[in-house]
Amino acid sequence: MADFFSKIKKGIARTREQMFGKISGAIGGGRKIDEDLLEEIEEILISSDVGVEATLDLMERVKQRVRKEKASDSDQLLELLADEVAGMFPEKRFSEDMPPQKPYIIMMIGVNGTGKTTSTAKLAARFKSGGKKVLLAAADTFRAAAVDQLQVWAERVDVDLIKQQSGSDPGAVAFDAMQAARSRDADIVMVDTAGRLHTKVNLMEELKKIKRVIQKVYPEGPHLNLLVLDATTGQNAIKQAQQFKQAVGVDGVVLTKLDGTAKGGSIIGIAHQLNVPVYYIGVGEQLDDLQPFDPSLYARSLFASGKETAV
Ligand code: GDP
Ligand code: GDP
Ligand code: MG
Repeated sequence: MADFFSKIKKGIARTREQMFGKISGAIGGGRKIDEDLLEEIEEILISSDVGVEATLDLMERVKQRVRKEKASDSDQLLELLADEVAGMFPEKRFSEDMPPQKPYIIMMIGVNGTGKTTSTAKLAARFKSGGKKVLLAAADTFRAAAVDQLQVWAERVDVDLIKQQSGSDPGAVAFDAMQAARSRDADIVMVDTAGRLHTKVNLMEELKKIKRVIQKVYPEGPHLNLLVLDATTGQNAIKQAQQFKQAVGVDGVVLTKLDGTAKGGSIIGIAHQLNVPVYYIGVGEQLDDLQPFDPSLYARSLFASGKETAV
């Protein structure tokens, strides 16, 4: 747990520094909790890319509680903020240890460069260390290097990979993977997909087709559409999410590159506005830089004034 806390702290250090730094700066010096202060906090949240809509919702809840609980000191206000931030995330959890179906089929979706392939590998490594038999499908056949990249990861993680040469039909790769999953008795199949932006309509059609092909073999699949979003793109990520949601549905989000941004507040807006749970966060490029996301721990590490031993 301590390790998890330090990892998440590392991942959100820059966001924390700027958001918590400014907020604690604003409420420091024995300042009393009034409209002005709450408005200032509102501005800080917006400038941290929490998003206008989510910020207004959040501050409304905070104000109500300040009134109800007659909160007057800064510690109380920070605690309240942490509480309400945690409450902005959908309750749904993902159980890595007990996926409800076998094979459990995960489709990794998202635009180019967000971290789909890397997150696929990181997640595969987690499943594998939990004793699961994992099969990867290289359904990004669009970029020549994409299949090789996944292959390198598959070898490192030591899991099976189903691939065809680049340029082939991603639907065909998915079909092969489903059949292989059956014959090899796989627990988890992860389908890595393409994400080229310049032909968005085609991309969505391609994803729908992959989904259809999966359903030919496993009518209830894919069981989890994991949308990979890059935290450094802030509000743009919300727009992407809406498009993927509309095309193929989104069951959960992996928010990557939280280590590289001070605008990690977007995670709050994404979860709240799309009503989609954030299941994992990426906090670096290494295999173990993927963490299950825990909203209340996240909120506490954002607003805790260095009291990490409390975990
Ligand atoms: P894809 O195009 O969506 O498959 O993206 P890739 O998995 O190829 O990742 C694009 C780049 O982002 C690579 O250089 C990754 O190492 C990097 N990347 C992915 N996730 C993270 C993360 O959580 N933190 C950081 N710093 N880099 C990441
Ligand atoms: P579409 O007519 O191109 O949209 O084809 P589908 O959506 O039915 O399937 C897409 C791709 O998946 C095909 O080009 C095949 O390569 C593969 N596929 C789908 N269904 C089957 C099947 O029943 N057997 C085999 N071998 N491949 C299939
Ligand atoms: Mg990729």
